[in-house]
Amino acid sequence: MFSRVFSAGISGIDACLVCVEADISGGLPQFHMVGLLSSEVKEAKERVIRALSNSGIELPARKITVNLSPAGIRKQGSGFDLPIAVSILTAMGIIREEAAAGRLFVGEMSLDGQINKVNGILPIAMKAKEEGIHSLIVPKENAFEGAVIDGIRIFGVSGLGELIRGLNEGTLTETEHISLEQELAAAYEAGNLDFLDIKGQEKAKRATEVAVAGFHNLLYIGPPGSGKSMLSKRIPSILNRLDVEECLEISKIYSVMGLLEKDTLVLGRPFRSPHHSITATALIGGNGNPRPGEITLAHKGVLFLDEAAEFKKDVIEMLRQPLEDKQIVISRLNRNVVFPADFMLVMAMNPCPCGYFPDKRCSCTMSEVNRYHNRIRGPVLDRIDVCTGTSRLAPEELEQRDGTGSVQMRERIDLARKIQEERFAGYGIRFNSQMSRSQIEQYCPLEEGDRKLLDKAYARYHMTARGYYKVLKVARTIADLEGSQMIRREHILEAIGYRNLHEI
Ligand SMILES: [Zn+2]
Repeated sequence: MFSRVFSAGISGIDACLVCVEADISGGLPQFHMVGLLSSEVKEAKERVIRALSNSGIELPARKITVNLSPAGIRKQGSGFDLPIAVSILTAMGIIREEAAAGRLFVGEMSLDGQINKVNGILPIAMKAKEEGIHSLIVPKENAFEGAVIDGIRIFGVSGLGELIRGLNEGTLTETEHISLEQELAAAYEAGNLDFLDIKGQEKAKRATEVAVAGFHNLLYIGPPGSGKSMLSKRIPSILNRLDVEECLEISKIYSVMGLLEKDTLVLGRPFRSPHHSITATALIGGNGNPRPGEITLAHKGVLFLDEAAEFKKDVIEMLRQPLEDKQIVISRLNRNVVFPADFMLVMAMNPCPCGYFPDKRCSCTMSEVNRYHNRIRGPVLDRIDVCTGTSRLAPEELEQRDGTGSVQMRERIDLARKIQEERFAGYGIRFNSQMSRSQIEQYCPLEEGDRKLLDKAYARYHMTARGYYKVLKVARTIADLEGSQMIRREHILEAIGYRNLHEI
């Protein structure tokens, strides 16, 4: 008696197809499992035996062999419980062979035969579709993840008895398809944080708008309580709406990590704000079976480092490569795992250890202030294009009613984004911040007088060459925000105002 069903495992953030075979033959009663199994998968044997027994099914007193193939892929996770049970039940003739054939099964089982949720159903559903498998049996709690994929049928089940009956009688209930396009539109409309909630801080809001428009990395410097984290939390409200493809790309990561909220995918751009005590592995990703870190959870969204000077310097410096490559490659003995990491970096810090420099309340010495700033100097700070101060509100600002809101900011940003899309069509980049030096020369022409002005600033502020090009890139974005083809004097002056004071 032999049977075979499909299942799938997770490697990195992608799924791979796995075949689960069961063979029941003569010989001494025993239960063998083979196929490069991790300890979690080996434990499936005990769970499956108990779950079957508690569902009133006794295994025959014969030799049972279960094989998970291909043998070259290490099988991990608890999602193989269900396919192992189904393949045995099919070999025993309890489930009709044709009812299980061609379907993919994933799910963890508890000892009483309950089918529990597992991580990674979304990438598994995507992989199943790619492989031409159109029917998936998954834990009921995970069914919504597959229901967003067109062209496949998802059946959510919660218990073994229900599954056996449903398969044999053809009465499984199909989960209704979810239109992701509609969900995304609704979530975008319902977005609740708005820059309008922030009184005053018009200068910092403007800097934020410029940074978002050109996808420039951003640094806020200001005393405690001056709104740095309020500002950064509102950045997703002015980033463009997620499209279906991006939503699936991000949700796949959250699905593998088990971080999807109940019954919904990630419908808005991520905003991740790891604490400054974070380890390099938690930030970048890694460990034995590599798992994505915060930079990958921030993919297509914002990575916010509050109290940037408090992070360990070697941890922050690990951001250099992903900032450059928009992905992170984690090498393991026999393979490389690639995690996407295309995020906007936003950092915030106090101006000095006590937080009040240059106010007279500041109790720090000049060398303490310098040492504090030194903590973030280096390769990551080099990749910050826009730097802006935040200040505590003046009394009249507290009264202010008609500040800038997300809707107005988004209108200008949309215009700038459109211009950049046309400019860089075919170049493989999308934003001004990604321009190479030769592209800067090509797309940032200045009038003779304005060139001289910038050269003067370069000398006067002891700017680095990198700083000089940053000013040009940011000036390009500022011009784009008002639809101006030429970079004008006021654009350059504004960009010089955002230069990074720490680089001098
Ligand atoms: Zn101080």
